[in-house]
Amino acid sequence: MITVPVFDGHNDVLLRLWLKTEGDPVSDFLNGDGLGHLDMPRMKKGGFAGGFFAIFAPADGEDLPGDDDEVNPPLAGQLALPSALRKTLEMAALLLRIERGSQGKFKVCRTAGEIRDCLAKGVMAAIFHIEGAEAIDADFKTLDVLYESGLRSIGPVWSRTNIFGHGVPFRFPSTGDTGDGLTEAGKDLIRYCNERHLLIDLSHLNEKGFWDAAKLSKAPLVATHSNALAICSSSRNLSDDQLKAIRDSGGMVGLNFASGFLREDGRWRTDTQLDIMVRHLDHLIKVAGENCVALGSDFDGARIPAAIGDATGLPNLIEALRERQYGEKLIAKIAHENWLSVLERTWG
Ligand code: ZN
Repeated sequence: MITVPVFDGHNDVLLRLWLKTEGDPVSDFLNGDGLGHLDMPRMKKGGFAGGFFAIFAPADGEDLPGDDDEVNPPLAGQLALPSALRKTLEMAALLLRIERGSQGKFKVCRTAGEIRDCLAKGVMAAIFHIEGAEAIDADFKTLDVLYESGLRSIGPVWSRTNIFGHGVPFRFPSTGDTGDGLTEAGKDLIRYCNERHLLIDLSHLNEKGFWDAAKLSKAPLVATHSNALAICSSSRNLSDDQLKAIRDSGGMVGLNFASGFLREDGRWRTDTQLDIMVRHLDHLIKVAGENCVALGSDFDGARIPAAIGDATGLPNLIEALRERQYGEKLIAKIAHENWLSVLERTWG
């Protein structure tokens, strides 16, 4: 089996490490704690070459969705800026300390050129990403500071409402059409991100918000970790019209490995077959085109098929694509090339 380097659109390892109550999270990640889906030794083994490292600030005392077999977990709680900012800074510090402790093996990248360089040298390439902008004020003061710390990608909303817009509640069956569009502050955020060449992640945003962003943004439309609504009617997935808008903007959709966003029955089950992942990719490619589809695993943030298990199982997905007659050129595009191209188009 030939390992293909994977650059990935979404992981929550920083949250996993931040939630740990014992041990040192930095050395646990670098040396490998064997927990969850990601740590450096397992990423290396599976060909995980880099990706978007999300910072997600949970509301106080909140469980994450997908912890049980519910297709419709309760609605997420709200989160005020001071709490979100504290949690965001703590996870950002983890990211920076991992870089510092890695002795050159892990880099927080600020340009696509840096990512290419890391991939060529076998250095883990990380994008500092925020999932849900609760830590950002409407005047973007905290955004300016986070940008200087390396932030290069923002999802305006997670699956809850904030000052910028409305995320989709986790609902099945449902479309993404679950409420109002972007607020005025949300539209300002899109303009500001365009100005600063920050990537805007539309995953979790509801459909009206998506179209507001699509109308306003001058950047490629990107959904880092979402699937095809045509196959799994989860509120988190994208309609064919949304996929066509992504295609027309030269954007990207990253295949989410979360079983509840893959399965036709919306269940969070680990006995989900790789075949359904390939079917989503087939559909995403058919509608969005082979230049606008990549991977967005949701490792450490969701229940994923046991056929992958953790980062070491990535070659199983690649092998499933080969079995379905995906050529090596297309596999390389999906695995990393497409992400690099859209980052070049977005960041300049
Ligand atoms: Zn997410």
